[in-house]
Amino acid sequence: MTHGKGMKYLYFLFSLPYSPHHSPPSSFPLPPLSIEDLELPVWNYDGSSTYQAEGSNSDVYLYPCAIYRDPFRLGNNKLVLCETYKYNGKCTGRGRNVIGRLWDSPRTETNKRKSCKEVMDRAKDYVPWFGIEQEYTLLDQDGHPFGWPKNGFPGPQGPYYCGVGANKVHGRDVVEAHYRACMYSGVKIAGSNAEVMPAQWEFQVGPCEGITMGDDLWMARYLLHRVGEDFGIVASFDPKPVQGDWNGAGAHCNFSTKDMRVENGITAIEAAIDKLSRHHVRHIKAYDPNEGKDNERRLTGLHETSSIHDFSAGVANRGTSIRIPRTVAAEKCGYLEDRRPSSNCDPYSVTEVLVRTTCLDE
Ligand code: ADP
Ligand code: MN
Ligand code: MN
Ligand code: MN
Ligand code: MN
Repeated sequence: MTHGKGMKYLYFLFSLPYSPHHSPPSSFPLPPLSIEDLELPVWNYDGSSTYQAEGSNSDVYLYPCAIYRDPFRLGNNKLVLCETYKYNGKCTGRGRNVIGRLWDSPRTETNKRKSCKEVMDRAKDYVPWFGIEQEYTLLDQDGHPFGWPKNGFPGPQGPYYCGVGANKVHGRDVVEAHYRACMYSGVKIAGSNAEVMPAQWEFQVGPCEGITMGDDLWMARYLLHRVGEDFGIVASFDPKPVQGDWNGAGAHCNFSTKDMRVENGITAIEAAIDKLSRHHVRHIKAYDPNEGKDNERRLTGLHETSSIHDFSAGVANRGTSIRIPRTVAAEKCGYLEDRRPSSNCDPYSVTEVLVRTTCLDE
């Protein structure tokens, strides 16, 4: 399908930077990004169609909060990330440079950005950095893992992680096109790899400071779904898409503060781990959208995970809740890796609770 005549024609229309089958020019001029310079209006949509509001009072307001270059339409086109708010008696509808105004209206239940932003603003002096490793699984449109035999299973796990070759990995076209889309858009994508289960992949975003982690990761997820459309392939963020002896999918969150990144920062890392050890349940509740229910299927203690019921930490140990990377232990500074967040986590909730527990002592 990806090599069909029609598809090639489509990619010509898309022009070079996004095309998975043509290399972009070594440097292409990127139109600048600045949310302040644009007069973005408050907009609204029918929240009853998205289960976010009742039919009788169904307008949900969109408040622009971050801006990206549009890798599909190119030129001066932008993609705008918005927060969602319910009805607001005070909305003037004039909608010019409204960022920061009208925030007394109730957020929707799924708007986790609002409180995250408040926490990040309060913790500004800690200069928190995050890097999230987003794992996901590519599926056929029928929901079957992409490239798997239709009436059975591939050979057992082992040869697939960071693999190369059509018998090892499935869907690299999607991965590459997505990577380019992220780079063009301004998402701080940092790397990608094929995962332990065939058709499972990972991309890393970061390091991002504060609220930018959640913004960039949500935009990266959106871009992945959009790119997948062109290939007829679906990206799933389910933390355990296939039962049995197959790895689940997580969203390891790498985290550091200013104090952890300087000489002997290991002391600050250990202090943070000590605080995290006393709030395990609270963190598990924030690490998937169903307060731990989704992650229960994944955090079994097998397949490079720790048990959902216990907190643990260790150097270079992938069976723990928190891992201190080997290089960090050797250099005595850097960051920690929280391996618990589920692939379908809300990065705003994850980064918020990390900062609340380790910086603000809340
Ligand atoms: P792993 O070895 O667990 O597979 P990856 O290489 O996939 O790790 O991801 C590491 C992540 O850590 C990247 O997203 C990177 O941006 C992030 N990172 C690196 N340094 C820091 C730091 N000081 N603070 C926070 N995140 C960091
Ligand atoms: Mn309409
Ligand atoms: Mn990784
Ligand atoms: Mn991984
Ligand atoms: Mn990791």
